[in-house]
Amino acid sequence: MKVEDNLPVNPELMVQADLCIGCGVCVGSMQAVGQMQFNGQGNLIPVNVQTKDLRSRLFPQLCPFSPEAPTEDFLSESLFPESRQSHPEIGRFLAAYVGYVSEGNFRERASSGGMLTWLLEELLRTGQIDGVAHVKACNNPQSDGRFFRYQTSRTPEEIHQGAQSRYYPVELSQVLAEIQRLPGRYAVVGIPCFIKAVQLLRRQDPILRERIAFTLGLVCGHMKSTRFVESIAMQIGVPLEQVQRIDFRRKAPHRPANAYHFHLMLTDGRNIEGPWRQLVDGDWGAGFFMNSACNFCDDVVAETADASCGDAWVEPYASDPGGTNIVITRSATLEAIVRHGISNGRLNLTAVDGNFVARTQAAGIRQRREGLAYRLTWPHSGLRPRKRVNPRTNGIRLRRKLIYRLRHTISRWSPRIYAAAQRVGFPGLYRLWAWSVLRVYKVLAYAGVRTTPRKQNTDRQNA
Ligand SMILES: Cc1cc2nc3c(=O)[nH]c(=O)nc-3n(C[C@H](O)[C@H](O)[C@H](O)COP(=O)(O)OP(=O)(O)OC[C@H]3O[C@@H](n4cnc5c(N)ncnc54)[C@H](O)[C@@H]3O)c2cc1C
Repeated sequence: MKVEDNLPVNPELMVQADLCIGCGVCVGSMQAVGQMQFNGQGNLIPVNVQTKDLRSRLFPQLCPFSPEAPTEDFLSESLFPESRQSHPEIGRFLAAYVGYVSEGNFRERASSGGMLTWLLEELLRTGQIDGVAHVKACNNPQSDGRFFRYQTSRTPEEIHQGAQSRYYPVELSQVLAEIQRLPGRYAVVGIPCFIKAVQLLRRQDPILRERIAFTLGLVCGHMKSTRFVESIAMQIGVPLEQVQRIDFRRKAPHRPANAYHFHLMLTDGRNIEGPWRQLVDGDWGAGFFMNSACNFCDDVVAETADASCGDAWVEPYASDPGGTNIVITRSATLEAIVRHGISNGRLNLTAVDGNFVARTQAAGIRQRREGLAYRLTWPHSGLRPRKRVNPRTNGIRLRRKLIYRLRHTISRWSPRIYAAAQRVGFPGLYRLWAWSVLRVYKVLAYAGVRTTPRKQNTDRQNA
């Protein structure tokens, strides 16, 4: 355990140390009173968390970035004893696949191959769950004060409406309270740190241990703040109040899956669509608006989830306009569901090994292994995270160090400069700054890499 100066681990100190991802588990746990609120950078943080004994006893074991919480290795070993395969970058697993859902319109409506939604619906259809906690669009974002939030779905139609990836801050406190209130068996969907938080909470809370019967993970590059949506609206010249709905990844038959297009539906009925690559902050690898806690993440594929789904970011899959998943199974139940789906032709999946999965996430793994090792050598005030990666600078090339430095600078300053530009009434200031740092980032990350639109994601894997 590495806790600087024996500081007690509590929510305020986690926020101060830039280690709070805003998952809301501290607020959602039974003993806590408090709220999750947006801070000035557009990230969710806990405020007024008063607890009976949580602060002193439970919290350090609940928070996914707490230096005192068990690691993903420890958790997955106890959760999935039947998962005998192990890979240094994707953890323990039973089996892995590449492909998509071939039945219905799952693939069409999803961000990738539709596997996550299909698995949820299959769990519901076979009576293994009564509800799903996942992230859906808010019907009235203006009164809700946000575009997305965790919600529960209890019918196939409701689950289907939740398809698609939301690169937007969300938190679990309200759905956890609902699961505590309403008996039943639930599946919870989340990015890796959220799933870890849920597993940590399940260890502490027997009711949630029983009711959260399944966890489904999303492979994750990083989490963005609300400023990303604000910036998209600003760049296309639309007041945020006029945005009714946003899809981050709109598919089209002629477009490679990795050429992301956003789609905004406005309150006056207009629809506006555009490519991420035209945004000054649309290069995922540059880290614009990345949550600071992501700098301390070492779990790319949600190693503590019963099954994880991501995108197959290698050719020929990355160029396939339909979208293609990688799927990792860890629990025997999920593995049996997947096998059954393959054998009756509902899923078009091919078995792959751990190295294939790791190749599809090469850039994310580099950032969370080599990059993390390097970042851990930097001075850090307050609580220090405990990671499965050791600090080191040796063997890391200068160009890579510069990329990690610049990415960190971009993630730290993009929300601040965005907010400052808005405050002084000159949004162009942010655009100018973002455009300039992006130019430098591209030189560092892609110099010497041949770039074509169809290879956009191969480039991303070089970043
Ligand atoms: C912040 C973020 C970063 C990601 N980074 C990567 C990456 O680097 N590499 C990669 O391969 N894949 C990444 N993914 C996952 C990828 O975008 C797809 O979600 C995944 O491939 C599943 O696709 P699908 O077609 O099977 O899912 P779909 O069938 O579209 O279903 C997605 C499900 O996830 C739920 N959901 C969406 N957003 C969230 C959220 N923020 N939190 C919890 N649940 C949510 C939806 O409600 C829905 O149930 C990321 C996802 C997110 C949210």
